[in-house]
Amino acid sequence: MKRSITVIGTGRMGSALVRSLLRSGYRTTVWNRTRDKTDPLVKLGASVAPSVLEAVNEGEIIIVNVSDYAATKALLRSDPIAAAIRGKLIVDLTSGTPSGARDAAEWCTEHGACYLDGAIMATPDFIGTEAGTILISGAVEAFDSNSDVFRALGGNVQHIGQEPGRANALDSALLALMWGALFGTLHAIAVCQAEEIELGELARQWTATAPVVEGLVADLIQRARAGRFASDDQTLSSISVHHGSLQHLLELMQSRKIDRSVVKGYDAIFKRAIAEGYLEGDFAALSQFLVTGE
Ligand code: NAP
Repeated sequence: MKRSITVIGTGRMGSALVRSLLRSGYRTTVWNRTRDKTDPLVKLGASVAPSVLEAVNEGEIIIVNVSDYAATKALLRSDPIAAAIRGKLIVDLTSGTPSGARDAAEWCTEHGACYLDGAIMATPDFIGTEAGTILISGAVEAFDSNSDVFRALGGNVQHIGQEPGRANALDSALLALMWGALFGTLHAIAVCQAEEIELGELARQWTATAPVVEGLVADLIQRARAGRFASDDQTLSSISVHHGSLQHLLELMQSRKIDRSVVKGYDAIFKRAIAEGYLEGDFAALSQFLVTGE
């Protein structure tokens, strides 16, 4: 007999989670602040609970997916719910900070529940597919004994550590990487538009350049991991070469009146490293200059 599962929060992502659970045959109870959003899920076989407390009472596993931890806290932190979660597994798939996850884990443990925190590394259309990735941290036993449920949510749901804040920490790290690429793309678009280069040409040239960038990213992570900051015979490009090219970009942006605030931030990191004698160091040496102490 499959376990009964409750999903609190049926926005875009929560609804996708519910649809996957229903497809895999789990008895699923839902609760959402705006009741209408549960209607399509009821048509697929979900039951609606009239209150959060009744939703918690219905499920052996309680999956939470609301906007942020402030909402999770407002929904769960009351005496009746604290009593109702005893012996249950709470899986919070809401995005948040590592400290938010640690705080939630502490509260759940204090009230006799088991807690797993998850970071969804996918859009709703990926949920329940082979490529659906969710990172989970917290008690490994709770993850292993419910692996069938996690498998229903995606083919790549991974337990990445006992420490509950780990999934959110890795989520932020990967988002930093993603935004680096997306904001970089905005700058590239602005430069092309200012220089009257058709954006189709940018797309074509990016296809050719992308493998080079992918290689640089992999190399940077490897070198930072090994602490190989001095230039050596495997260095792909030195700080001085990167910094020189960055000055060309800054000059072009200034002449075309393109916002330089982000790129000036890159320049400041280069300058800190250069002041410490890393002009000819490997680009990876910059990884030592991001902690500002502020
Ligand atoms: P969404 O469609 O805007 O849904 C937000 C959900 O949170 C709704 O169910 C909403 O209820 C509920 N909510 C917000 N504040 C609440 C409160 N104070 N009390 C009760 N319920 C509250 O957002 P979503 O895309 O599903 O995202 C949900 C979570 O998944 C977020 O943490 C997001 O970062 C994460 N996530 C989303 C994606 C994505 O691609 N969408 C990807 C990765 C992670 P109402 O319906 O009543 O407003």
